[in-house]
Amino acid sequence: MAVPIDHAGGKEVGTIPQQRLSYIANYFHDKKLDSLPFVYSLDKVHIAAPIKYPYNLLNMAANYWTHAREMGVNKDVDQDRDAPFIFAKSPRSCIVDPGEPFYIPEGRGRIDWEGELAVIIGKPAFHVAKEKALDYVFGYSIMYDVSDRGGRKRKDAMFQGPDWFSGKSLDGAAPFGPFIVPKEFMTNPHDIHIMTRVNGVVKQDGNTSDMIYDVEHQIAYMSSIMTLYPGDVISSGTMGGVGTARKPPEYLKPGDVVEISIDGIGTLKTPMKAMSERPK
Ligand code: MG
Repeated sequence: MAVPIDHAGGKEVGTIPQQRLSYIANYFHDKKLDSLPFVYSLDKVHIAAPIKYPYNLLNMAANYWTHAREMGVNKDVDQDRDAPFIFAKSPRSCIVDPGEPFYIPEGRGRIDWEGELAVIIGKPAFHVAKEKALDYVFGYSIMYDVSDRGGRKRKDAMFQGPDWFSGKSLDGAAPFGPFIVPKEFMTNPHDIHIMTRVNGVVKQDGNTSDMIYDVEHQIAYMSSIMTLYPGDVISSGTMGGVGTARKPPEYLKPGDVVEISIDGIGTLKTPMKAMSERPK
């Protein structure tokens, strides 16, 4: 249980983690930071993915009404009644830094954009009730769920149906960052504006209020199956406006730049390059 702590002249203003983070932020706010030895301007540093590497990287499929509908899902879904559709990516092979290119493999001509809110787990979660689920969140970031729409067609395979692994787990298919914002500064994960631009043109413009399964239900369901560990990332799904649902469909090619912006967090930029350009 979090215990109130006093840093505000005898006034109880929050719990320990909320108080501590606000206290640090307030301390540095308006100070002259340039002379401090640990302060660098952003153009002088390389911002890496904020966690390299989480134990688990789990993804919500078709978790916004606008995206589910554009992908042809007509069924009504009740988050309290129906189980969500989850898939996983390999954290080590898929997570790359902000600004790092995604290298499009030979023969993969249907690479798409999916801007997503990343939920960062803060403490071990197993069999967590949805009412308590947000207690297990550390904060929020941005993830690009790079998706190959052409990687999932295997009509001649022994198992019919989409090949999610091939379509979602290409090398570098989870650009992540640039920052994690602690939940103390983003108190409502279900009213956050997300936007995806390709070459500066807005392709996705939505809000997390459009989620089918909210963050609480995501954590409750995933933790009913497996333990979620501190630092684990849930990429919580994408909103309408993906390339494959457009008429005609649009896909990414070398030279394109995908930028995903989330209010209160920042922008994650991913240039597309050909696999032949990848350093050996
Ligand atoms: Mg996705």
